[in-house]
Amino acid sequence: MFNFTYYNPTRIHFGKNTIVEIDTLIPSNARVMVLFGGSSAKRTGTLAEVKQALGNRFVVEFEGIEPNPTYETLMQAVEQVRELNIDFLLAVGGGSVIDGTKFVAAAAVFEGEPWDILTSWGAKVTKAMPFGSVLTLPATGSEMNNASVVTRKSLKAKLPFRNDLVYPQFSILDPTKTFTLPERQVANGVVDAFVHITEQYLTYPVNAAVQDRFAEGLLQILIELGPQALTKPEDYDIRANLMWVATMALNGTIATGVPHDWATHMIGHELTALYDIDHARTLAIVLPALLRCTKVAKREKLLQFADRVWHITTGSEDERIEAAIVKIQAFFEAMGIATHLSSYDLGKEAVDAVVAQLEKHGMVALGEHGNIDPAMSRDILTLAL
Ligand code: NAP
Ligand code: FE
Repeated sequence: MFNFTYYNPTRIHFGKNTIVEIDTLIPSNARVMVLFGGSSAKRTGTLAEVKQALGNRFVVEFEGIEPNPTYETLMQAVEQVRELNIDFLLAVGGGSVIDGTKFVAAAAVFEGEPWDILTSWGAKVTKAMPFGSVLTLPATGSEMNNASVVTRKSLKAKLPFRNDLVYPQFSILDPTKTFTLPERQVANGVVDAFVHITEQYLTYPVNAAVQDRFAEGLLQILIELGPQALTKPEDYDIRANLMWVATMALNGTIATGVPHDWATHMIGHELTALYDIDHARTLAIVLPALLRCTKVAKREKLLQFADRVWHITTGSEDERIEAAIVKIQAFFEAMGIATHLSSYDLGKEAVDAVVAQLEKHGMVALGEHGNIDPAMSRDILTLAL
């Protein structure tokens, strides 16, 4: 196992009716901006509950953070934060709203051009405003991590940043708040969490038994409960377990002491930026092809995955690996998510365009070995056609 530091300062309040806890978590004299998305927070009543919990505090609403939050929209929030002397941010929504709030938290107090936050991968962030979140869509882990992904529409650039100053102070996870999710978003959440786990698990062995068994357990829960969540939208136990799995998939726990891949995410981001395909759906296209292209380097972990997660024990090594990748594809398809570019009417021209974007954004040495160069990205995308 590699050396590691484990740090996660986010306080979680999990369970039914936990939104009321907000009152104890935000200073009573705070000037609060509540940030949310298109319409779901209002429609579902979650926003009203949040405002009730905020009581007599000074509150302004910032509405309209879109899926794949844009720099253009978030900079409007930054302006309002500065104008109104807001000193606490509260995100109400899914990964997009929470990621967007992280950017606002860093950008509002940033000296210089806030775009530099993204082009420096977050290295230039030296301070950030305090913020919390009320999660309504289990998927990204953003509610308990220090990462954010922001899109600058005018440049067709979707870039991530990380910084320890943008961990939420707290996150409220009430599984009943996910009952209103459309099937498409439930499926997206399950697939995003699945790929977060594989990015930290399907690399090469470093004798990290705790992280491996933890990752394998989380994957098995997603495989078992994902399809059930689609047919039983108001089953509390299913939603509660999925919510906690998605958080655990990307809150640093299984990331400790192991190599990381993240190439599927970086290639997927370009597909979203160019063709507006949902984040999780881009991952479902890239992951199977990436595993096939990297199966020599990932051989030991792929065989372990085939055995422990899918119970595939017969056949040659190559046959077992291929059977495990076919199982992943069948699982994604069973969740209603396509695994090929052609399902989005994209062909060879898309491969060229994505590779050009990867080069432009310096994504030229991806994966746990840093050997996924533009030529290999091209092979992966071609295999995903
Ligand atoms: P999302 O983009 O936050 O939300 C997708 C849709 O779900 C929105 O249209 C939203 O509607 C709706 N929605 C949310 N909660 C709902 C509810 N309870 N009931 C009904 N509808 C609801 O989806 P996401 O998958 O959570 O986030 C995706 C973003 O996170 C991408 O930009 C991705 O790159 C990023 N990401 C971040 C990390 C990280 O570590 N920070 C990791 C992976 C991905 P409204 O707009 O109307 O509210
Ligand atoms: Fe993701």
